[in-house]
Amino acid sequence: MRNASVWQRVLGLARTVIEGVVFDEDAAAIVVSVRPRKGARRRCGRCGRRAVWFDRGEGRRRWRGLDVGTVQVWLEADAPRVNCRVHGPTVGQVPWARHGVGHTRDFDETVAWLATQCSKTAVTELMRIAWRTVGAIVARVSADIDARVDRLAGLRRIGIDEISYKRGHRYLTVVVDHDSGALVWAAPGRDEATLRRFFDQLGIERAGQITHVSADAAEWIATVVAERCPNAIRCADAFHVVAWATDALDEVRRQAWNEARGAVDRRRAGRASGHARALKRARYALWKNPENLSHHQQHKLDWIAKTDPRLWRAYLLKEGLRTVFVLKGDAGKQALDHWILWARRCRIEPFVALQRRIVKHRAAIDAALDSGLSNALIESTNTKIRLITRVAFGFHGPQPLIALAMLSLGAHPPVLPGRP
Ligand SMILES: [Zn+2]
Repeated sequence: MRNASVWQRVLGLARTVIEGVVFDEDAAAIVVSVRPRKGARRRCGRCGRRAVWFDRGEGRRRWRGLDVGTVQVWLEADAPRVNCRVHGPTVGQVPWARHGVGHTRDFDETVAWLATQCSKTAVTELMRIAWRTVGAIVARVSADIDARVDRLAGLRRIGIDEISYKRGHRYLTVVVDHDSGALVWAAPGRDEATLRRFFDQLGIERAGQITHVSADAAEWIATVVAERCPNAIRCADAFHVVAWATDALDEVRRQAWNEARGAVDRRRAGRASGHARALKRARYALWKNPENLSHHQQHKLDWIAKTDPRLWRAYLLKEGLRTVFVLKGDAGKQALDHWILWARRCRIEPFVALQRRIVKHRAAIDAALDSGLSNALIESTNTKIRLITRVAFGFHGPQPLIALAMLSLGAHPPVLPGRP
């Protein structure tokens, strides 16, 4: 066939002989008959070792490749079994696809890249596959990268966190590298056994080289870090501490709202009902950092300052704590001393309780103020993983979710095929 070399280029096939190309009217697709080149034949599909012919297997098979123009392309070939010394009778390896799957490597690579770049709809519509199939593909592409690279090399300063997925009932433990910003490890579960698996993989020598570990105040993280990372300074994650303050503020806001609503029930007065509604709507204004407030939200805050002194003081306490982490270092520690005195006497129960919690974790918070670890970085990784957990909804189990997170936020992203 004279056009074989053109097709070879078009399909980007290595170590493969093209036997023929036809247009299959029923499938409305181009079907390319292929076979592995001599040196690529008779190898175990699982380990790639040379093996002897066993039987014809299940005859001819097809693999979905990348479209040419708007037309689907399928590769078709015999799929004989070989007898591997280690794995026994196994379908032989083919150069164009991973073992036991129905898509070519180029197809897999493209889907994995797209999954890290565009929306769920874009990937499934463009590639004409189900979202579940995307999950299976990202899992195998990520597993291949894992087999090739060492994600845990050179770690010095790490952050450990837990992320909920599946409506808050299941958790992942994730580890990020503070120096590169990359996600380096993730596993289902949030307990000591899960985190110990990370340190098992890291090994004693490399664990000894970790200088800083940042984490929220979870007891199970503290326990394992103390046991496995003897040389590391344990720091609090600033954004978790600020999140505690946001939670306390929200509790105060809810109390104020309930009181205002109670007033409605008692008096059926329009003014009180307006107050309750406004408080409900003030949520975002109270949560946001002041520099990010819209004009309208700034207005809301001014209104709270005038009408609700208790909620206003709670807001100032939240902002005060946030400032501690903006200042950092000794200035931050001094500001925190003041903040603790202030909160202790504020007579707003959620903040009195927060003050006790902060005193309890003072050592780890001081270490965070001294370390200069970037809070913004770990917070943004955290936010991105949360987004991915939502996108990954519909994948089968946590592995494809972890794979998509590693491909999107790890140091080794998927690469499009056919690029130099
Ligand atoms: Zn084998």
